[in-house]
Amino acid sequence: MQGATGGRHLLQREFDERAPVSRPCAVRPEPVLGHGEVPGESPEWRRPRPVVNNASMHVVVCVKQIPDPAAPASLEPGSHTLDRSGKLIMDDSDSYGVEMALQLAGAVEGSEVTLVSMAPGGETSGLRTALAMGAGRAILVSDEALAGSDALSTAKVLAAAIRRAEPDLVIAATESTDGYTGTMPVQLAELLGMPSVTFAKRISTDGVKVEVERQTEAGYDDVECPLPAVVTVTAGVVEPRYPSFKGIMAAKSKPIDVLSLADLGIDASAVGAPGARQEIVDVLDAEQRGAGEIVVDEGDGAQRIVAFLEQLKVI
Ligand SMILES: Cc1cc2nc3c(=O)[nH]c(=O)nc-3n(C[C@H](O)[C@H](O)[C@H](O)COP(=O)(O)OP(=O)(O)OC[C@H]3O[C@@H](n4cnc5c(N)ncnc54)[C@H](O)[C@@H]3O)c2cc1C
Repeated sequence: MQGATGGRHLLQREFDERAPVSRPCAVRPEPVLGHGEVPGESPEWRRPRPVVNNASMHVVVCVKQIPDPAAPASLEPGSHTLDRSGKLIMDDSDSYGVEMALQLAGAVEGSEVTLVSMAPGGETSGLRTALAMGAGRAILVSDEALAGSDALSTAKVLAAAIRRAEPDLVIAATESTDGYTGTMPVQLAELLGMPSVTFAKRISTDGVKVEVERQTEAGYDDVECPLPAVVTVTAGVVEPRYPSFKGIMAAKSKPIDVLSLADLGIDASAVGAPGARQEIVDVLDAEQRGAGEIVVDEGDGAQRIVAFLEQLKVI
């Protein structure tokens, strides 16, 4: 399910110089090299900044609220799903999307950032954290009938909420920390009828199109697609800001619209447990890690480590 989808990209270029370069539509001209510059090694100042836009934008960020990973987790006995009855916090994965959105919106006056979340029990703690970082408002979809919703149902619900917000750009994390199927954002894009670009490590936009450096094993692809679009960001690519005391105080009075399924015009039978196409049939303990091998250096330590790694086919 992962990948840049839709065939609507204007340009996608593999940056590994050894790989054949395919130039299907438009090709960005090679920059003229400055003094001391090495071909293929762009200096930091030439690389696109996370934010280069000149039109005000409405950026919607998906924020999943999850049970605190630092606390012991428990599963619901019947459904094998995570017990979400306690306090939920913002998934750390989404703090990168929030930061990206704030940088994009912060560059142009009049831009705004809206958070969207689906969570049980009217939970807003995680949203308040993102509001304290600087987002302007939030939409929470919470409804008892959503219990047991799978990733597709979640995408249906979030799509309905996001459609009403009329965003220019939707940002989500590549995968959540608790469910980590990594499927929700591309389903969301499909339902919204928007192109999607995954694994973004840099985003820039002029308000009409979005340019994304899409992380790959070999380096990154340079992907461009029209707005509105859904972009998923990779964890660790920006430094999420800490909410300031002023931000925390301001977040208390920022608006959070709490919506039910009825508000969104969604039939309860299409989501929640009745509409789910995924079922967790069993949960098994992870395999115990075996004891490591201790190499005592008797003059041949390095060779023995190399032989050990070769045996594992790591080198
Ligand atoms: C059997 C089952 C039962 C479930 N029961 C419930 C339930 O009772 N109540 C409930 O609320 N959910 C429930 N869910 C939904 C689940 O918590 C996830 O939201 C959903 O399955 C998405 O899967 P994921 O976390 O693997 O998403 P991924 O595709 O890994 O998520 C990628 C990104 O999408 C965004 N995203 C994903 N989920 C949300 C969300 N909920 N809100 C905002 N952004 C989001 C985040 O940016 C996230 O990092 C259930 C799921 C399953 C499979």
